[in-house]
Amino acid sequence: MNANIFATFEAIAREAGEAPFLETDDGQVLSYAQMLGLTARYANALTRLGVTPGDRVAVQVDKSAQNFCLYLATLRLGAIYLPLNTAYQLGELQYFLEDAEPRVFVCAPADYPTKSELAARHGVAHTLTLSDDGSGTLRALAAGESDSFTTAQAQPDDVAIIIYTSGTTGRPKGAMLTHANLLSNGRALTKLWGFTDKDVLLHALPLFHAHGLFISSHCALLSKSRILFLKKFNAEQVLALLPRATVMVGVPTFYTRLLDQPGFTAASAATMRVFISGSAPLLAETNREFEQRTGQIVLERYGMTESAIIASNPFAGERRIGSVGLPIDGVEVRIADGDDRPLAADQVGGIQIRGSGVMKGYWRKPEKTAEEFTADGWFRTGDLGTLSADGYLTIVGRAKDLVISGGYNVYPKEVEMAIDALPGVVESAVIGVPDRDFGEAVTAVVVRKDESLVGDGIITPLKSQLANYKVPKHVHFVTELPRNAMGKVLKNVLRDTYGKTGTAA
Ligand code: ATP
Ligand code: MG
Repeated sequence: MNANIFATFEAIAREAGEAPFLETDDGQVLSYAQMLGLTARYANALTRLGVTPGDRVAVQVDKSAQNFCLYLATLRLGAIYLPLNTAYQLGELQYFLEDAEPRVFVCAPADYPTKSELAARHGVAHTLTLSDDGSGTLRALAAGESDSFTTAQAQPDDVAIIIYTSGTTGRPKGAMLTHANLLSNGRALTKLWGFTDKDVLLHALPLFHAHGLFISSHCALLSKSRILFLKKFNAEQVLALLPRATVMVGVPTFYTRLLDQPGFTAASAATMRVFISGSAPLLAETNREFEQRTGQIVLERYGMTESAIIASNPFAGERRIGSVGLPIDGVEVRIADGDDRPLAADQVGGIQIRGSGVMKGYWRKPEKTAEEFTADGWFRTGDLGTLSADGYLTIVGRAKDLVISGGYNVYPKEVEMAIDALPGVVESAVIGVPDRDFGEAVTAVVVRKDESLVGDGIITPLKSQLANYKVPKHVHFVTELPRNAMGKVLKNVLRDTYGKTGTAA
């Protein structure tokens, strides 16, 4: 048996034949059979350039059907696909090229002059181009190639993808996901979310992150369903397309933006079997509003680059608002204390995971890998959470963001939720800053609706809602919170900015 995940996709795609596989927002439809032909051409072209199993193919281009087929072709030839965020500038790109040493780098035609030079300096053998309409040097090479290719043999433990983490807590790390990891996750989710060949997946996420690249798209490939590919999320466009879709995957912002559309009602969601959210916390208020408006609860799930999906609310069972659901097949979850001892139900501790869905390790960072795995194979996710007696996981926040003030643990999310509910507040982030008396002082960084709101307008009402040690000692107002490309708040940047000044409210 060939453990290459593409061998599994290929057998299914041959059965699907002329059935539609991918439809783009400019109306082009690629069938399963055409996908097989195109991936063969790309795999042949890359092979001709000397790419062999284990080589890295780094790709920094806009989302397109061609881009997605290039990903599948890389799997097919047993090489390692390495997606890079299109927002990364030259200095950032340099870090990834140095770290990953790809054999081939693919960029947009307009970026070729600057990026090919940088890539050549870092030992990349070939820089190719691919634009979102599919033109570019890669397409030209592939056009002359055969549309058949023998899918390379792979072992379960062979690396299929290296994806860099989002860099929310430090420099991005390359997570090595194997063919077995991807198959385990894909099969579990296809079953859990109930994908069939009747499904139409509305896909508006970027392809440079695990969430958009493979989490739901693999479910589609494993169930012969159709994918509707939007280049970017746009609420009006999504609203118009929903009547043709049955499943949507997204980040919380997608759902808040949909709710901002007055036309978004139960009727708009009538064909929708399920809406799925992940990558960042979905506020309970958002989900309650969503339920009121559409009669459906968004199915929240939790994952990370290092293991794709860890837990998900059930499709058929109870979807618990505020919880990320139950561990999926192939992943065990436990809550442990600082010495890796398992904790009882409902106690807050570190979320640890183990199983066939969990990555092999960090690319070229054996010390970091050894640091994050316990001796008996549990991966320390760096997130804090609780498991209920009936197995539902709730995320409390990141361990690095925990504030310890006067010896008490303060979970920023709890304080942020209280601040965000105050009139005049748009959003907030809570951090700890070094403090002589308290060790760390709870500090709020707030985006306000207008300047009439001052620090006391935050602190005074919170005093009657929260224990004293949780109430911010300092409040700073900003026009926006610093975020990374996935929309996550960069608390290390806030700690650097406010860690020393400590301006009192
Ligand atoms: P880095 O590891 O480089 O600091 P990152 O952890 O943000 O960056 P990702 O792997 O993209 O990189 O994100 C995974 C993290 O996203 C999880 O560890 C968790 O903190 C957060 N996350 C994902 N899904 C959810 C969710 N449903 N609720 C709350 N947090 C979530
Ligand atoms: Mg992380």
